[in-house]
Amino acid sequence: MSMRVTLLGTGDTTGTPTVGCTCDTCAEARERGVERSRFSVHIENERTGESILVDLSPDFRQQFLSWDVPLPDAAVVTHVHFDHLDGLGNAYRVFDSLPVYAADTVDPETGESVADTIRRKYDYLDRVSVHDVSPMESTTVCGLNLTLVPVEHPPLLCFGLVVEDPATGAKLSLSGDTSYDVAENSRERLREPDLFLADAIVPAALCDRHPIGGSDHDADGVPRSFGTKHMTREGAQALATALDADTTRLVHTAHYYPVEEAFAEPLAVDGEQYRLDGTGVTRLDTEGEAAAGGDTTQSELTTD
Ligand SMILES: [Zn+2]
Ligand SMILES: [Zn+2]
Ligand SMILES: [Zn+2]
Repeated sequence: MSMRVTLLGTGDTTGTPTVGCTCDTCAEARERGVERSRFSVHIENERTGESILVDLSPDFRQQFLSWDVPLPDAAVVTHVHFDHLDGLGNAYRVFDSLPVYAADTVDPETGESVADTIRRKYDYLDRVSVHDVSPMESTTVCGLNLTLVPVEHPPLLCFGLVVEDPATGAKLSLSGDTSYDVAENSRERLREPDLFLADAIVPAALCDRHPIGGSDHDADGVPRSFGTKHMTREGAQALATALDADTTRLVHTAHYYPVEEAFAEPLAVDGEQYRLDGTGVTRLDTEGEAAAGGDTTQSELTTD
C-alpha cells in the first residue's frame, strides 16, 4: 500500500487554456483536450483510505468531477494567493467537516499567518477548522507526515511541503510557489524525494519580458528565477538536480510557454497520477504526447 498522488491542477493563476486567450499554446491545449487548471495536488494514503488535498484551487469542483479521486479528509494550504486558497468556498455543503492545516508564522506583509488569514476569510464556513502548523516541524495527518518548509515568494510568506509515508519511507516534495532562492535548511528537508513537483512558471528565455527580468542566474548566465516570485523551467530543473529528486514534474506553468515547448517533458498536465510505494515511482495515467510546432507573439508577462 502506498501514496497515490494525483496532479489535479498544474497551471498558474490564469490556467491553460486562459479564458479569452487565443495564443497558440492555449489553442493547442484545446486541440489536445488537456488543461492546466489552478494548482492543487491530491494525495491518497492507500493504507488508511484517507486523503489530503494540497491547496484549494478555484477549479476544485471541476477537478473532482474530472478525476477519479475521493474528496479529501484534510487540506493543507501553502499560501494565501487566490489560485491556492479561493477554492475553499467549495467546502460549503460538500463536507461535514474539513480540517485545514496551515503555517502559524506571522507574515509581516499581512500581519497575520496563513492560518489566520484562512480563519478570517472563511469564518462563515462552520465545518472548516483551521489548524496551526509550525514550519519545519512534522505533523501527522491521515497517517502521513507533513512538513511545511519556508520558500521565497515575495512579498508573501509561502511554504513548500514534504509528505512522507512513515510505513514505506516514500517521499513527495513540493516546491510551492517560489524563486530558486530557497534557503539551505529548507532544501535539506526537501532533499531526495521520490517525486518532486516544482514551480516552473516560464522558460528562462522569457525573463526579458518580465518587468524586472530574471534573477538567480547560473554560471552560464541563465536566470533560474522569473522576477523574484517563481522559478524558470531551468531553475526548477536545477533545483530538482540539487535535491537529487528521483522523478520531477514541472507544475504551475503558464500559457506563455511557446507552443513547441509547452507540452514537452517534464511539464505536467492535469490528471497525471503517480504511486509512491517506498521503492520508486510508478506513473498510473496514460503518458502525455510530444510537442507540436508553432509560434507565439506576446508582450509583457504578468504572473502571481
Ligand atoms: Zn494563451
Ligand atoms: Zn503564489
Ligand atoms: Zn500560484
